[in-house]
Amino acid sequence: MKIGVFVCHCGENIGKTVDCATVAQRAAKIPGVAYSVDNKYMCSDPGQNVIKNAIREKKLDAVVVASCSPHMHEKTFRKAAADAGINKYLCEIANVREQCSWVHDNIPDATDKALDLVRIAVEKVKRNIPLTAIRVPVTKRALVIGGGISGIQAALDIANSGFEVVLVEKEPSIGGHMSQLSETFPTLDCSQCILTPRMVEVYQHPKIKLLTYSEVEKVEGFIGNFTVTIKKKARSIDEEKCTGCGLCIQKCPIKKKAFNEFEEGLATRPAIYVPFPQAVPNIPVIDRSVCTYYQTGKCQMCLKVCGREAILFEQQDTLVTEEVGSIVIATGYKLYSIDKKPEDSEIKGYGEYGYGKYKDVIDGLQFERIASASGPTNGEILRPSDKTQPKKIVFIQCVGSRDEQKGFSYCSKICCMYTAKHAMLYKHKVHDGEAYVFYMDIRAGGKMYEEFVRRAIEEDGVKYIRGRVSKIYRQNGKYIVKGEDTIAGMPVVIDADMVVLATAMVAQPNASKLAQTIGVPYDKYGFYQEVHPKLRPVEVSTAGVFLAGACQSPKDIPESVAMASAAAAKSLVLFGSDYLEREPTVAVVNEANCAGCFYCLKVCPYNAIEKKEVKNKLGEIIDYIAHVNAGLCQGCGTCNATCPSKSIELIGFNDEQIYAEINAFSESFV
Ligand code: SF4
Ligand code: SF4
Ligand code: SF4
Ligand code: SF4
Repeated sequence: MKIGVFVCHCGENIGKTVDCATVAQRAAKIPGVAYSVDNKYMCSDPGQNVIKNAIREKKLDAVVVASCSPHMHEKTFRKAAADAGINKYLCEIANVREQCSWVHDNIPDATDKALDLVRIAVEKVKRNIPLTAIRVPVTKRALVIGGGISGIQAALDIANSGFEVVLVEKEPSIGGHMSQLSETFPTLDCSQCILTPRMVEVYQHPKIKLLTYSEVEKVEGFIGNFTVTIKKKARSIDEEKCTGCGLCIQKCPIKKKAFNEFEEGLATRPAIYVPFPQAVPNIPVIDRSVCTYYQTGKCQMCLKVCGREAILFEQQDTLVTEEVGSIVIATGYKLYSIDKKPEDSEIKGYGEYGYGKYKDVIDGLQFERIASASGPTNGEILRPSDKTQPKKIVFIQCVGSRDEQKGFSYCSKICCMYTAKHAMLYKHKVHDGEAYVFYMDIRAGGKMYEEFVRRAIEEDGVKYIRGRVSKIYRQNGKYIVKGEDTIAGMPVVIDADMVVLATAMVAQPNASKLAQTIGVPYDKYGFYQEVHPKLRPVEVSTAGVFLAGACQSPKDIPESVAMASAAAAKSLVLFGSDYLEREPTVAVVNEANCAGCFYCLKVCPYNAIEKKEVKNKLGEIIDYIAHVNAGLCQGCGTCNATCPSKSIELIGFNDEQIYAEINAFSESFV
């Protein structure tokens, strides 16, 4: 075998610490190396041409490129090798940048180490065999999880490109938090007015299959070929028969017992309900926890009045299976519940603010509902406690955000803006009212955001106080807000009629469960983890799964929509080909040797190992052995290292290759 060695300077990245010319000269003496040369930028076009020309002119069989990490340019160099006529798996990378020049400063030692790395790669490539990429067909259909604005945008983008989408939403209606908002910053346009046409478009789209009141239970398979099991929770309604007339809702005698989730607890709802008037689909659901029939066996009023016989008390949850090629996760966020401690954290809460104790200390979403024309007060700013108009409201930012001791260290990103909006909406509706905002910093980094906050201060007269609030208590019918003005350096006391807390955006409570179901990493806060924050912000390490919106980190609407379109575009790229090429460096089981102990199955982090039936001549199952699903295998080698009978080989990294590398390294010590 004739091997070529190509040593890259990477400008000064490698060349400053490693004597590349010396490495190239000494590499030429390694047995099997027929040609060796150094170049300033091997990845540049001229650099790649050096490789291609050498392969052709020197009739090389394999190449080693001593350069940066294979993550950076393995593809580039393998393609150059393939263009010149050799199998791309006969190209190996010796990482002399990240593993050498960047971590050493002594030139002679770094040069010696670079040569060691080259020798190791040469011994490996000598034992490489030509491989062919695995081709897997692509199911051109997407699953979108979450029907808020991000999920809606992603679903519409994919469907409008001609591909089918299954949109799964856990609530009875799509719309998410955006459907609860009154007006949106910085334009102050009505949230529902811009959202509901999109919700209807989703419902009517011939390419979108909408599954509301449903949750993803299981995901199997791999990029291009996922099988998803979805639990469709029982609404107690026949969706085919129901016309959404609402008569059952009107007649349901249970009106005051049920917590109205959409109104954030500021109103009640019947046992049978649609979450809000523009809900999509406009089909009710029975809340069995408060329905008299489910609790006592009596009532059935809804059944009596429904002319369509659409009430189905006996309806059960059902499982639906869908085949998809990509998955977009758009499960959104939740507001930090400051009256309760998240079970798995040491958060102390904000008991001193009186949330949960005082009815007029509310959070941002509750204020949205109060300010909304469709809300419990029809848009009039009234206190929840006595329905009087508050003449003085204190808004407190960063409740739970940027507060490592009591909340989370991150910035929730939207609170500065929505607080300015709340204060502005209040001043627009209560002209003689006073609005105070306690803030730490104003972070208004979006288009027209800074101008929006300035408008609240300069045109609407909202008073901003830089500082934290230490305590809120009740006195003479007022809420006494004690804080500090850190600019003036003095304490501040405000006798407010109402207090609005801008609580942190947090991950959905079941985010980690879904992450484990799909195989998606998440950070310490429960937000899903992208592969690379700058270069691959919507991808996760599980190929074919993409992120959209606030499930990845706090985001406002424009950012969520942009991210959703990016996630949709990634799905569409996948659907652009009939087949996917996967690396052939996967595990294979020597079936004759396998003892069927299944240690490999237990350790495989990608669930790539299955039990394969062994049958006798009569077709009877007599045993089980391990089988690797090449579509799922990521070539990590865990099974290979675990198998006690050495029945698993990792193609491209077999024992002979690994030992040759170790021996080549040992040679440098003798
Ligand atoms: Fe109307 Fe019957 Fe549907 Fe209720 S269940 S909304 S009464 S059709
Ligand atoms: Fe309401 Fe339940 Fe009675 Fe139907 S059976 S009307 S949902 S309480
Ligand atoms: Fe077979 Fe080895 Fe897996 Fe055991 S660990 S089931 S012997 S391949
Ligand atoms: Fe699973 Fe890794 Fe083995 Fe592939 S190489 S089957 S991913 S343990």
